[in-house]
Amino acid sequence: MPATSLDQIVSLCKRKGFIFPGSDIYGGLANTWDYGPLGVELKNRVKKAWWNHFVRQCEDMVGLDAAILMNPRTWEASGHVGSFADKMSACRRCNKLTREDHWEGLILQSEWYKSLQELYFSKETATLEDLKKWGEKTAKKLAPNLALVRNSSVTISWLAEFLEKTSIATKEAVDNVHILSSMRQLISYLATEQFNQTGLQLPCPYCGGELSEPKPFNLMFKTHQGVLEESSTLVYLRPETAQGIFVNFKNVVDSSHMRLPFGIAQIGKAFRNEITPGNFTFRTREFEQMEIEYFFDPAAQDWKQLYENWKERSEKFIEEVLGIKKENLRLRDHDPDELAHYAKRTTDIEYKFPFGWGELCAAVAYRTDFDLNQHQTFSGQDLRYTDPDDPSKKFIPHVMEPSFGADRVTLAVLIDAYEEQTLPNGDVRTVMHFKKGIAPIDVAILPLSKKENLIRKAQELYKKIMYETDLTVHFDVTGSIGKRYRRQDEAGTPKCVTIDFGTIGEDAGQGPPDTVTVRDRDTLEQIRVPINGLLEALKGS
Ligand SMILES: [Zn+2]
Repeated sequence: MPATSLDQIVSLCKRKGFIFPGSDIYGGLANTWDYGPLGVELKNRVKKAWWNHFVRQCEDMVGLDAAILMNPRTWEASGHVGSFADKMSACRRCNKLTREDHWEGLILQSEWYKSLQELYFSKETATLEDLKKWGEKTAKKLAPNLALVRNSSVTISWLAEFLEKTSIATKEAVDNVHILSSMRQLISYLATEQFNQTGLQLPCPYCGGELSEPKPFNLMFKTHQGVLEESSTLVYLRPETAQGIFVNFKNVVDSSHMRLPFGIAQIGKAFRNEITPGNFTFRTREFEQMEIEYFFDPAAQDWKQLYENWKERSEKFIEEVLGIKKENLRLRDHDPDELAHYAKRTTDIEYKFPFGWGELCAAVAYRTDFDLNQHQTFSGQDLRYTDPDDPSKKFIPHVMEPSFGADRVTLAVLIDAYEEQTLPNGDVRTVMHFKKGIAPIDVAILPLSKKENLIRKAQELYKKIMYETDLTVHFDVTGSIGKRYRRQDEAGTPKCVTIDFGTIGEDAGQGPPDTVTVRDRDTLEQIRVPINGLLEALKGS
């Protein structure tokens, strides 16, 4: 059966060396993760597969590797300094930050709210006395910082005053939105202690404490370039790799003579001081992006057609190249009100994570000519493309942007590969069904015993595979053969090669000389293969 909780994945990742908590020996640093020996191989393969699929195997694509630190004007042009700021409220009690546009959703999901809602609408006549009791019992546990809990009499008296004026307590058949509009008032009263001084306060979804006024909060990490902080320049860690591509558009066109339509791809780190990171490596403040800006002439090409093409190319990568199961994927078009300021249309590919559907990548976003126009204005440089067939034709190209998170995609690959499988003999094994070519180890060499001549033969084979193929090969002599198979299953190694006494001509019962046993991770099938045909068999399988 597949993973039912993220904890199973987190624990396997630590145990097997895929992903460790960051700065682990110091008690960690919130929301940072380090890729271990298997994890770095896996992530590198995801990135390599992406690069092959989108760059090396495409005539119309070139690559780029831009610096993380960029001239700060870049971020004024891109809108990140001005508007890349979500409005946030801080809780005055627990200090947690809540995004203004997430508040309602978080409240609706909170246990204390659900319980209050039940009290209010399931009971025929909910009274102030009931509320007081709720505050003394349930709320004390679930929302200890509500004013109702901390100073019940004051809050109840404000509420009584209000109730006299209105009839909020009348119970009617109401729809959800209506519930919130009146419940919102109620919970604001419950969160308010000094009504005359502060007016109504909104409660923190986590603890019931009062929230501050929402203020813009810049998501970019700031640092200083230069030795002395006071005389140095403020710079930002890039919040996306895309701008490195836009500022190099002219350089690439001039140096590579690319003709429209063409794309520039980049893989690299980006940083966002996210308010609500979490779910393992799903949302982290430091992350790696794999992005493409595909430039085209909107007068020569139908953008809708191109949009569909890119959607397909992205889907193909996720499903066919990475081998993520189709039933765990879905496409989702952004609603007009959630589109970024620069985007005309965006389609995400979502993955069914153990915590629910989550964005895996933007299959494609249509960014129009927004970015290049902005950079032309802010830099004063002419960023127009000149039609090589008609030099009098100069224009700013439009852009399609497929954008993948390398960490998020790697996490989905891990989750999708995971299986706890009961074998016919009743044993349970954990097996990672990574697609061939994505698995961090391609083949394991397992000598049946530690006997010297067996080890020598096995080492010979190990080195042959290592130097004569591009397969990643692992050597393991520790423990019983059964245990070693299980270890390789957990690492997701597709093939195990066992060298036994038959191989070295000492026990015909185990097999003919110069043959080895190749075991398949998924089918558990074991076949006897001559050594001289082994490389072909491994490559082809
Ligand atoms: Zn709080």
